[in-house]
Parts: sequence; structure tokens; C-alpha cells
Amino acid sequence: MKKPEPVEDYLEDLVEELVRIQERGIEHEGILFEVKINAVICDSPARAFAKCIKGHNAYHGCERCEAVATRVDGRMVYTSHATFERRTDDKFSQVYLSCLSLIWSRDRHIWSTSEDLLKHFVDGSTEFYGDTFPVYNIHSLQHLHEDAASFKCSLNDISAFPFENHMQAIKKMVRSGQNPLAQVSKRIAEQEYAKPSTRSSLKRCYVSTKSRDGCFILADEIAFVREKRGDGMLVADVIRLDDAHDLFEKPCRSKLINIAYVEKEMDVAQRRVLEKKELLRKAVCLPFSEGFAIFPLLHNMD
Ligand SMILES: [Zn+2]
Repeated sequence: MKKPEPVEDYLEDLVEELVRIQERGIEHEGILFEVKINAVICDSPARAFAKCIKGHNAYHGCERCEAVATRVDGRMVYTSHATFERRTDDKFSQVYLSCLSLIWSRDRHIWSTSEDLLKHFVDGSTEFYGDTFPVYNIHSLQHLHEDAASFKCSLNDISAFPFENHMQAIKKMVRSGQNPLAQVSKRIAEQEYAKPSTRSSLKRCYVSTKSRDGCFILADEIAFVREKRGDGMLVADVIRLDDAHDLFEKPCRSKLINIAYVEKEMDVAQRRVLEKKELLRKAVCLPFSEGFAIFPLLHNMD
């Protein structure tokens, strides 16, 4: 895909929005969050594009220093012993590289040790890995300590990897080139809707001892509420799903989808005291044959 041109048009909406939320903050559930941009995280091609500078494969591809690359076997290589002057433009030194997930201590002593070790590694790398090894990414290792010093934090705190990983998940949601944002939004909504409930979704659900409001599905049991105690606990007759019968067996056994048949006498039930949070889902209990057919309700009972 071609890069959009010009960069001003491409970034205009983003810049406007960022300016606005930095001025006004973001309100979420009644709380106003202040937003401050600390860093903009880009990979090398995107950084060169956004800053309108030479790409990382150019002869003067390093934005941190004046090292000049040479072409070796078709690759742009920064020869290990090339001396390089730091670029002085402050804007250049503000941007950091997020190509390695290294742990950096806040301790200055360790920064300089890391600087020496990385320089040693880059300088000696051609000996082990060949002349084509020190490409832009390897050369950039020598500048990593500048970022740790500049941001005064571990590089893990300013790593692009979490975003990059999440990007993969988002990309998989887009199936065609048309309306990608709408596609992503719909897929996320579907996922949230379909998420199986691991905790009780019945906080505000009406529970009573009457059969129409007294039947619930627990983790692997069915409960019939018989008494609501003053302390909030419930007394119930509980039947293990294993002890209940299938209401039907085709196209699959009904208990697979929590639909069951229980006999009127409920000989297999045990009387137990339950906490309300054990009730995972409300169920409909309908008279059927000599007993009851139990169907779980999909939705909350708000
Ligand atoms: Zn450099």
C-alpha cells in the first residue's frame, strides 16, 4: 500500500483531536481524566514519514547521529567502527527507538554500563555475524541508552510491543477494505456480547420462592429457591445437572446447553444454603410431562 500524501492531510484530524483532548481532558463515567502526551510511538518507516526525514534505509538514515551507511550485498550497513557525531537538533533526540525490550535501571551507573555493553556488542558484531549484520536496527542499539536517560524510565514502559500485538488482533477483524472501522467496532461488540459470564450477572435480578422467579442455574447444578433468609442467604433444593435428565437428545443432548428435565418428586435434590452470587443465570421452569422442563435465560433480568 502507498503512503498517504501529504503527511499534513493525513495527520490533521489526529492532531486536532489530540489538541482538543489535551485542553479539555476525557470524561468517562463521570470522572474527568487529564491527558498529556509523553511520546508518540512509531516504527522506523512511520517515524520517517511523520517527521518528513530520510527513511531508515537511506545513507543518512540514522536520525540520532551523523553516521553514514554503506551498501554491502544490497543492505545498508553501518560499519562498526565508524565514528559518529550526535545530531544536535533537540527534536531529533526527543524521539526514542522502541526496537528492543530491555530492562533499564533508573540508575545512571547502569545506563552507562549498558551503553558500553551495547556499543561493544555492535562494534564486535560483524566478527560473529558478518559484514551485513549491523543494519539500522543494530546500529540503533547504541542509541537506546539515550532513550532510557531521556524518559527516565525502563524501556519496557515505553515499548510499542503491546500496541503492536493488539494491532494484530484488530487487523484480523477486518475482512474487506470497506468501512474498516465499522467492521472492527461490530466485531468488538459481538465479542463482548458473546462473552460467557464467569461471575453472577444477577446482581439486580429478582429472586423469590415462587417457581417463576425461583429457578436458577449454578456452575453445574440447578437450584429451586425455597426460602429467602433475613441475612440475605437463600435456602434451595439443588440438583446436580448430572442427576437431571436430557429434555431431548437430538440434535444434541439438551444438557449440553443447560436445558434439562427434572422429575416432580426431586428425589435427587439436596437442600442447601446458597449465596446469591452462586446463582449464575435465571431459568424458566415449565411443567412438562410428569415433571419440569428447565431452560436457562440468556439475558440478565435487570
Ligand atoms: Zn546513529
